[in-house]
Amino acid sequence: MKGHFPINKFKDIATPFYYYDGDLLRETLNTVKKEAGKYDKFCVHYAIKANANPKILNIIRENGLGADCVSGGEIKAAIKAGFPSNKIVYAGVGKTDDEINLGLDYDIFCFNVESVPELEVINELAQAKGKIARVAFRINPDVGAHTHANITTGLAENKFGISMQDMDRVIDLAQEMKNVKFVGLHFHIGSQILDMGDFVALCNRINELQQKLFNRQIIVEHINVGGGLGIDYAHPNRQPIPDFAQYFATYHKHMKLRPQQTLHFELGRSIVGQCGSLITKVIYVKQGVNKQFAIVDGGMTDLIRPALYQAYHKIENISSEETPETYDVVGPICESSDVFGKAIDLNKTKRNDLIAIRSAGAYGEIMASGYNCRPLPKGYLSDEFV
Ligand SMILES: *Cc1c(COP(=O)(O)O)cnc(C)c1O
Repeated sequence: MKGHFPINKFKDIATPFYYYDGDLLRETLNTVKKEAGKYDKFCVHYAIKANANPKILNIIRENGLGADCVSGGEIKAAIKAGFPSNKIVYAGVGKTDDEINLGLDYDIFCFNVESVPELEVINELAQAKGKIARVAFRINPDVGAHTHANITTGLAENKFGISMQDMDRVIDLAQEMKNVKFVGLHFHIGSQILDMGDFVALCNRINELQQKLFNRQIIVEHINVGGGLGIDYAHPNRQPIPDFAQYFATYHKHMKLRPQQTLHFELGRSIVGQCGSLITKVIYVKQGVNKQFAIVDGGMTDLIRPALYQAYHKIENISSEETPETYDVVGPICESSDVFGKAIDLNKTKRNDLIAIRSAGAYGEIMASGYNCRPLPKGYLSDEFV
């Protein structure tokens, strides 16, 4: 993809920065719409937490997706980007009163409720406003996903959701409350999931739970299966668009929806991951005892995934055509974990070369911090360079 970076246009931009390929994002969204659109009753939301850059949100909103939020700040970002409030869902284990009130004021589509105390507070706050809050229960399905331990969320030991044993009791409680309306069940088992078997396991579990509810003559309007579809970090060029066909077909095949039910998805990484790269400049090439280091001006403050999850990102020198050599690519932050990659083959690298750290569109810019008093990286859309 080397040729695809408008590298001559990068000359005047301060590094490090995020570069987003708008065409790839639109193509990805078209694929999502086409594949989800094969099944009526499939409704896709974008998980704002993966990337809330207003330019990105704007393109996603234009394509008609709803928004999945996990904080009041994200609800505000979604509204500001023009997402209709009746397409906003809101999850989170620790919603504050202010955040719940914000959701109530905007009449969001649904609160994905994660505990009994939260349900009680939503009921109280809705009553104070003379409103009825639509709620779904986030059920912890105790389904493990084959992904990094820090990003599984659907095991009984995780902090998220309501346990299956408690489901009936919580539904009973909600049905006695005057200011909440129980409309659905919500699930989210984790992120960067590439094994469709994990989603099949979730479908099977939901089918069981639905049967249990059906025996009590309860049919919910909405089932929300969260997000989690992974991307190919090793081959961003070979697979720039995730296999949405297979993903939605898996749910179509295995989920037993009742005729009146809608199936909701909350996709983050799979929508924005591949369109973004962190562009960073080589400050020094330093000869170590047994290795050489390419020291770049971007660090874990700009892209924390390698330090936080030992995540792999493909790294390319987009300035050099010379024969590859092996480097540890490291940032300038005073932390030993500030390493983007060890023993990476890069075209022979010199000071001031530009390095692209690929597949950084999700959980990249949004997780940036000001540690070491560093400025936050900016994000640019390819559309701005034509
Ligand atoms: C993070 C999150 C998502 C999105 O996950 P991806 O792996 O980025 O698709 C969806 N739903 C909830 C509740 C989340 O917390």
